[in-house]
Amino acid sequence: MKNEVVADLEWCMAYWPDLVEARLPMATKRPWRQPQLSPEAKLKRDWDARIDWALRSHNALAEAPAPVDVTVLQAALDILVDADDLAARVAEHVGIPVLPPPDLSTLDAWPYLAYAAAHMTLADDWLARWAEPITRRMVAKIAQSLCMVYDGQTLAVTCPWCAETGVWRVQELPGGQVAIVCHGVCEPPAKEVGTWWGGQPVWPLPDWPRLAKLVQAADIKRAKKAS
Ligand SMILES: [Zn+2]
Repeated sequence: MKNEVVADLEWCMAYWPDLVEARLPMATKRPWRQPQLSPEAKLKRDWDARIDWALRSHNALAEAPAPVDVTVLQAALDILVDADDLAARVAEHVGIPVLPPPDLSTLDAWPYLAYAAAHMTLADDWLARWAEPITRRMVAKIAQSLCMVYDGQTLAVTCPWCAETGVWRVQELPGGQVAIVCHGVCEPPAKEVGTWWGGQPVWPLPDWPRLAKLVQAADIKRAKKAS
């Protein structure tokens, strides 16, 4: 149970920046994050800076008032509130300092998600059981919001299985599930593909971090072969 909760929190940390950028409708939509840096490496890099910031300052990062997508903003706020509660509860439970409350103008849930994830392993199982529906809800909310933003985008990556480039598209499938669909002539082995849709392999959003690693591994292999 603890592992599931930590995995959910880490997933939310990885996609939180995308959610927050998505809240500005005028912001350039980023293509799917390019898999140069593994999620782990990125989290590690961000860790010190973000925790440091959370502990030291309440400076507003959002200087420029900009029109916001209200639905995405609401999702981000909900997650921030949940993450703050969760981090405080975990901190009290394991006997460490509680982070300062979030400044709503900065809208940064990342330090709270990271704090909860880092200390969840020290918590009792009952706390993980209590946290699980909350982290599940966070994942669902982020996925849903990203879907609205990324739906229809083509990804500039090479599919590790059909070796075609630019054939992966982010699509909202029936049932509101956001997924990457490969539109190449593509038949990944059964263990590598989440599901199929219209004869094409499909990877739902929770699979994306794993997918990014596979793309990266295939890129490295190709580069080695070419050199
Ligand atoms: Zn493919």
